[in-house]
Amino acid sequence: MAQSAFQLATVEPRAEVKDGVKKRARLRRQMYLAQMVSFILDAAILFLYSLSGTIPGSASAWYLAAGVGWTAITLILSEWHFNDRFRDHYLTVPQSLGSIGIQIAAIYFIPEVGFYFACIIFVVLGFGALRMSARQTGVVWAYAAIGLTSVFTLTSQAIAMPMETFAERHLALLCFVTALGRCAFTGLYGASLREALYRRGNELKLAHAKIEELAQIDELTGVLNRRYVMRALNDEMARAQRAATPCSVAILDIDFFKRINDGYGHPTGDEVLRGFAITLAANIRSIDRLGRYGGEEFLVVMPGSSKDQAVSAMDRLRQVISELDWNSISNDLRVTFSAGIEQVRPNDAPEDILARADAALYKAKDAGRNRIMAG
Ligand code: GH3
Ligand code: MG
Ligand code: MG
Repeated sequence: MAQSAFQLATVEPRAEVKDGVKKRARLRRQMYLAQMVSFILDAAILFLYSLSGTIPGSASAWYLAAGVGWTAITLILSEWHFNDRFRDHYLTVPQSLGSIGIQIAAIYFIPEVGFYFACIIFVVLGFGALRMSARQTGVVWAYAAIGLTSVFTLTSQAIAMPMETFAERHLALLCFVTALGRCAFTGLYGASLREALYRRGNELKLAHAKIEELAQIDELTGVLNRRYVMRALNDEMARAQRAATPCSVAILDIDFFKRINDGYGHPTGDEVLRGFAITLAANIRSIDRLGRYGGEEFLVVMPGSSKDQAVSAMDRLRQVISELDWNSISNDLRVTFSAGIEQVRPNDAPEDILARADAALYKAKDAGRNRIMAG
């Protein structure tokens, strides 16, 4: 336990941040390269249209220059880590605005196949919306709507998708099939985002459970810490008082622990505390709650146990500890403890029962130690 806390504390945060930045840049690179491929594919289709005589030969060159140029600028900015200054490091809004701007310009300048560019606007907005807020999506949609309105109503362009010749008919098919492919890709991308979110949620849940567990545990001994054993005491007392069932509490204090520290050193004292707590934990019932109450003092809450039952359980423990072999630490080391036991009364508060158990413990110490006393 102590080791894992130490590991947590010594994780190099800078290295993690650096890795995160690198990973983000790599993801953006993939995204922008896919976008560039998309523009090249469109330019190739336009080139075929120019071969069939539907549009001028320069159209595909202009489209390619605009698409690849725009993507190259965003890629360079990304590689310079300009994007890392923003919360949405993909810069989805300017990206979408740029791409839609190119499509609207293409509808205006190449109206002969204008419907194809309108299809691509669907893909761009659908893809961008996966990463944008509702407000951002509204802004991009309004921008696209204004752009389309300008071209559709303010000009008399005939925005078309010609299918007169064999070539045009098959190129139109190609346009729709590739646009559909990009729709499918958008859907898959959305699914992968959802999957990543689901995985992240599960990781967070696990991390939260781990933190919760660590927060309950005393680092040195691995049993409940004072705060949590007090909470357990509260809960068990309330339950016993409500159900009118017995519940007993024992305070255990290692005898002459100072001598162990003085004689063998503080680290050995720690080792003894660990061994002591592990032995206690291994020899109580699973419903009993064990925690470190102070330096070398432990609290055992025993739901369902009367005072007599608790005394015999603690006496058995006392015997186990006193007969324990500590040879791994030192041949002549002996460890014993004394305990004070009390049973919960109907109107007890935790302080009441702890005070009575403490008084019983001091009686046990006065009576010569290595013994159990009930109040
Ligand atoms: P008694 O039989 O009367 O209980 O004698 P004692 O020596 O155990 O007396 P006391 O309870 O006053 O001493 C407790 C000692 O426990 C004092 C403190 O230095 C030591 N201690 C407290 N916490 C730790 C710890 O985490 N590690 C170690 N090694 N020692 C601790
Ligand atoms: Mg003490
Ligand atoms: Mg002591």
